[in-house]
Amino acid sequence: MMVETGELTKLQMYIGGEWVAPSGGEYIESVDPFTAKPWALVPRGNAQDADRAIRAADAAFRDGPWGRMHPSDRGVIIHRLGTLIEKHADELAEIEVRDNGRLLAEMRHQIRYVAKWYYYYAGLADKIEGVVHPCDKPALSFSRSEPLGVCVGIVPWNAPLLLFSLKAAPALAAGNTLVMKPAEHTSATALKLMELVEEAGFPPGVVNVVTGYGKEVGEPLVTHPLTRHLGFTGSTATGAYLYSLAAKDVKRASLELGGKSPNIVFSDANLDNAVRGVVGGIFGATGQTCIAGSRLLLHRKVHDEFVDRLTAFTKAARVGDPRNERTQIGPIANQMQYERVLDYVRIAQNEGADLVLGGKRPEHDECARGFFVEPTIFTGVHNEMRIAREEVFGPVLSTIVFDEPEEAIAIANDSEFGLAAGVWTSDMKLALRMSDRLQAGSVWINTYRDISYTTPFGGYKQSGIGRENGIEGIREYLQTKAVWISTAEEIANPFVIG
Ligand code: NAD
Repeated sequence: MMVETGELTKLQMYIGGEWVAPSGGEYIESVDPFTAKPWALVPRGNAQDADRAIRAADAAFRDGPWGRMHPSDRGVIIHRLGTLIEKHADELAEIEVRDNGRLLAEMRHQIRYVAKWYYYYAGLADKIEGVVHPCDKPALSFSRSEPLGVCVGIVPWNAPLLLFSLKAAPALAAGNTLVMKPAEHTSATALKLMELVEEAGFPPGVVNVVTGYGKEVGEPLVTHPLTRHLGFTGSTATGAYLYSLAAKDVKRASLELGGKSPNIVFSDANLDNAVRGVVGGIFGATGQTCIAGSRLLLHRKVHDEFVDRLTAFTKAARVGDPRNERTQIGPIANQMQYERVLDYVRIAQNEGADLVLGGKRPEHDECARGFFVEPTIFTGVHNEMRIAREEVFGPVLSTIVFDEPEEAIAIANDSEFGLAAGVWTSDMKLALRMSDRLQAGSVWINTYRDISYTTPFGGYKQSGIGRENGIEGIREYLQTKAVWISTAEEIANPFVIG
């Protein structure tokens, strides 16, 4: 719930079906990255708030109507939430833009698309079937899938409502209850969504949102003894740390982490499309996506022409006010990230990479106040450089030359990450051979940055564990119970098993 208090909007957390103030009474300012001014006050939750939320979710799971509800009826409520999200998409988009500076036009589209996650998983809720096993004993043995209990979701700031929903929709459809923690910079849409959760008819405690800093309120959610699953999206360092905390109590975890994804362009590619795909891959969302195609691997034959075309196309992109329909690249979402991106520009220059475009704040008036960085292109990058190995999470592209497909594969796979890869060629045999060899959870051929609720998404190597989306996505939130019913007349020898 949002309360207008003069200039700033004061937000409240949503726990056990009630709107609550943080028990410590403190708030964090949420800053609009276009104006660089605070616009909202986000409750600074703590361990006490985390405990209250987990207990509410646990009570809703064990004692509330949610656990006893037929999956078809749960599906109806989840579907209703989808329709409410569509109905309120423009309002949610406005809030998201205020929080993280993503383009309003893109967010209006993205939030309508978010509704599809709820429709898809609402439909799956009553299609989770058990299995009768071909048992070798005088018994009927069957297994069924059951929810885990209280699931905690911790998400970052780059696509708050989408990343929230990738976890919430399957977790709820599987019959679990939820405590979500959005990023401290971007909590407003998750809280607005709770108004829609109420309207959709979720029983109290089924969906809860606590807000605040990771260390103060996120960590107590993960370590709480009643938590059964952690769904985390964020940086690899935080994910690995939280995974170690979850492991202490043998809690299940799915992790969607960072990337340094290669976009590989062969000389026979449709270069117009490849330029658009590469630009969308690294400058879309101002480069702040885990799947950013931040390493451009260019075949030597096409290198100079491609860099020229790419530079010309990027130069023409309009950087500015995310609410302006004509803007194509908005600001960086927060000051810390803005400084980090500029640091990486300096690191790349010190390493000897050639700056061919950008690398600084845009000079025009519209970008005077916010956290803006020009779209930036480096050439002459080698895969050993930090700019090719570390995730920048901003509009910075590194170009690397290759001669042979084998060399492209070796460079692409020489990374601790393995989230995504793009291949641009007209030769489908080559494209398929590449897709076989690339160590990445998603491989896009002649396209980039496509995701869908139908298609599994996740990382190889340090980009993550588990999959979101599709039928695999709901499996993360289920556990298997085997049931045995004896068909024997008598138990022959109780001391011999087998
Ligand atoms: P982050 O890891 O700093 O924060 C992510 C979330 O974790 C935030 O909600 C934060 O408050 C919380 N958090 C931080 N420390 C915590 C702690 N000790 N205990 C509990 N919670 C804690 O990441 P970020 O910088 O906000 O987000 C950017 C990162 O997210 C990038 O590395 C990006 O690649 C990754 N990302 C991955 C995907 C994916 O699906 N693979 C999608 C989007 C973003």
